[in-house]
Amino acid sequence: MGHVIGIDLGTTNSCVAIVENGQPTVIPNAGGYKTTPSMFAVSQDGKRLVGHLAKRQAITNCTSTAYGVKRLIGRRFDSEEVTKTAEFVPYEIIRGSNDDARLQLAEKIFTCPEIAAIILREMKRVAQEYVGEPVEEAVVTVPAYFNDTQRQCTKDAGKIAGLEILRIINEPTAAALSYGFGRSDEETIAIYDLGGGTFDISILSMGDGVVEVLSTNGNTFLGGEDFDRRIVDHLNAWFVDNDGIDLRNDAMAMQRLKDAAEKAKCDLSARDVTEINLPFIATDERGPRHLNVEITRDTLESLCHDLVSQSLKTCEACMRDAKVGPDQIDRVILVGGQTRMPFLQTAVAEFFGKRPHKGVNPDEVVAIGAALQAEALTADEKDLLLLDVTPLSLGIATFGGRFATLIERNTTVPVRRSHVFTTTRDDQRDVKVRVLQGESEVAAENDLLGEFVLSGIKPASKGEPEIEVSFDIDANGIVNVSARDKATGLEQSITVNAASTLSDEEIQRIIEENPPDAIALKV
Ligand code: ADP
Ligand code: MG
Repeated sequence: MGHVIGIDLGTTNSCVAIVENGQPTVIPNAGGYKTTPSMFAVSQDGKRLVGHLAKRQAITNCTSTAYGVKRLIGRRFDSEEVTKTAEFVPYEIIRGSNDDARLQLAEKIFTCPEIAAIILREMKRVAQEYVGEPVEEAVVTVPAYFNDTQRQCTKDAGKIAGLEILRIINEPTAAALSYGFGRSDEETIAIYDLGGGTFDISILSMGDGVVEVLSTNGNTFLGGEDFDRRIVDHLNAWFVDNDGIDLRNDAMAMQRLKDAAEKAKCDLSARDVTEINLPFIATDERGPRHLNVEITRDTLESLCHDLVSQSLKTCEACMRDAKVGPDQIDRVILVGGQTRMPFLQTAVAEFFGKRPHKGVNPDEVVAIGAALQAEALTADEKDLLLLDVTPLSLGIATFGGRFATLIERNTTVPVRRSHVFTTTRDDQRDVKVRVLQGESEVAAENDLLGEFVLSGIKPASKGEPEIEVSFDIDANGIVNVSARDKATGLEQSITVNAASTLSDEEIQRIIEENPPDAIALKV
């Protein structure tokens, strides 16, 4: 049996790990780095670049360099998240044929799953070089708060990359597996994961060989990039005041500003003050203009403290759902690069009333947990029981645009619930069902996963036919729907057409357009 790897497909950085002789190891890429930037670019001469190579040329080729694509995957083009992202990124986001968001890089259009696939394939390649043979299977992580569409798109990315995704697991759950490796104490732990683009909080109960998620919550649109954006806005405002030039219309200047903002932010995790120095950032009739300014840790904190508070509000909601108070949480574990910010660590420590645990590497735990899960799935002896939950309530739109919940958030998966549908008119032949995920009582405010029509209902008086529809959420957090006419016992096969996922034909087309050798590149 071949190797099964664990991949943390991050918004900002990706990481791959494997279990060898019972020990999990993070696999470094050819450049010796344990994480690889989740970036993809098409260079001016048409070459495709992945990872560090893409990152290195991001400033000079900003309009054709994709980053942060995980913020867009599985979202509708018209969604608020896509609109907000489009304001900030230098590459062009366009409407796809499924109303999805796609990227235009050097004249060519890429779907988000395609870009995720390019990164997955790069991680697969890194692993293959290490083990010296082809790797075909993986466990891939996603933010716990990803909805069904975002998970489907991640699965599609695996297909495009030629990688069978044995299981999709939630990032904080993976981190918990990694923390629990080699421990047998009974503990309640909180995993606070703030990466580049997403925030997740999960509360878990750990025991001997059993990892049970009690509740999870999050924000798929809160991360380090929001901190960077605050600094960029601050620097740009400063430059307007001092030089009278607004840099927002100059994509390359904005990319340099973003780069410098992120560096300054990271610097300020270790120092009280840092300098931002960007020569020749603009030109006007006075000649070249330079941006040179100091920024202090205090300034950074005043620019970003509300982002931290926002994450803590989410933690509160998560604890309410788990029915535990801060004093019942034995350990708080920080995951994700943004948790290196001292202000954040202090705020989290105050909130939970205890210092966060320092024993895990925030960049590597998720991939290690994925590798441990991969090992557990392929091992003969099952000595790890992982019980995860669905992050969002699943339901349908009912009369008057209301949302009827069928499966509550934080229900342990896999789960199956059935519901009997009937007609509202005499001799009605079909019923349309809209499947949604979210927490609002108003159907339209939740995410539409798709809709389907139950057809061929035998003519009868209204309210008489009984069609049983089963909704199940599998261990990957992916929703499946099936239906049965109770009178005849006939099964109806149902395809839920989600607007923003790819059809099988599209996936096939993309696979054909992306032969493996077009993507594999050395770091
Ligand atoms: P992801 O899970 O999104 O791939 P990571 O966990 O790699 O992300 O975190 C990336 C984020 O962490 C970026 O926004 C980066 O700027 C931030 N980050 C990395 N190192 C530091 C640091 N020392 N101080 C503050 N933020 C940091
Ligand atoms: Mg991460």
